[in-house]
Amino acid sequence: MKKVLVIAALLIISAIYFFQYNDQEKVKIGSSASPEKLTQRDYQDPPKKIILLIGDGMGLNHILLGRIAFGGPEFNMAMDRMPVFGIVTTHSVDDLYTDSAASATAWNTGFKTKNRFVGVTVDKEPKKNISETIKDFGFISGLVATSSVTHATPAAQYAHTDSRYKEELIAQQLVESEIRIALGGGTEFFEQENKQDLFFIEDLSELKNISTDSRVIGLFAEDGIERSEGPSQIVMTKAALKFLSSAAKDCNNFFLMSEGSQIDWESHDNKVDEMLVELKDFNETINYVLDYAATREDTLVIVSSDHETGGLDVIKQSGDDVVIGWTSGSHTLAPIGIFAYGPGAENFSGKIDQTEIYKIITELASEASCSADQ
Ligand SMILES: [Zn+2]
Repeated sequence: MKKVLVIAALLIISAIYFFQYNDQEKVKIGSSASPEKLTQRDYQDPPKKIILLIGDGMGLNHILLGRIAFGGPEFNMAMDRMPVFGIVTTHSVDDLYTDSAASATAWNTGFKTKNRFVGVTVDKEPKKNISETIKDFGFISGLVATSSVTHATPAAQYAHTDSRYKEELIAQQLVESEIRIALGGGTEFFEQENKQDLFFIEDLSELKNISTDSRVIGLFAEDGIERSEGPSQIVMTKAALKFLSSAAKDCNNFFLMSEGSQIDWESHDNKVDEMLVELKDFNETINYVLDYAATREDTLVIVSSDHETGGLDVIKQSGDDVVIGWTSGSHTLAPIGIFAYGPGAENFSGKIDQTEIYKIITELASEASCSADQ
């Protein structure tokens, strides 16, 4: 009888061990040439162009795994090229766990709020976001997302509501906002009615027919953009940058937020290969933006995240592979970073809370204030 019990106990223990650790997977270690690191220069003036890139769900281990998978241990991810680095705290107002809505509200408005809330405080009071605040300093704004443009992260750039799930209301608020260009998915949430100064497009090639005096909402999918159908984040970001550069006119001031939304989604599903495809698009987008900024004196680039997703562990080397594992199907409290380059970048070093991102950006923008009629 004793023997049977011992065997049963051993079986149970090995079953627990098996189910807990069998989700380890292998990812091939890459080897490729690395882009150069950038150094901060002695900038004379505050930034007239501020570009914020968000990797939704991207923790520091996502960046580590990207480094190893895309080029090997010494490879420079785009973020590794950026001279200023800090750690960001992301807790929502009443929970260590944050969702994308509370997180994006914190950096967009400078106020912490409850999960699911967008652009409003815990008391549901609407707060001015970065785009609304820096409009007074001559900045026009744009956004790019690989999710629907009404999804939590992009929504916090223009909407004010107590639920991220009211996507038709959020869509209406985008129509009524002053966002000059919004590119992503989300046809199902909009009644696409062109107005005198607002045009809807469903193909990026239509953008060249639209005057940069107008506003544009480009919707390329019903909801999130399917990777196989595109357009990718880098393609949309290039288009938005081009549009904003000519739309900004005399003042030349603009703010662009571009989100790699689906790094989060693939991490929720614990799909490492698909996550790396999303991360690669995000990484190439940042490299493109950094190369744009490196030729100029007036462009600040900031890269961050809203929270970690999946509890990604990068465990050990096994031959030509690296062994990884996931510890969660949801968001975790694992740390996220913030990286910066260009005039004002030094403000983003050390440990900062997300709410400070609003304060730093709006302060820098006020120093670059320009009163020309936009
Ligand atoms: Zn998520």
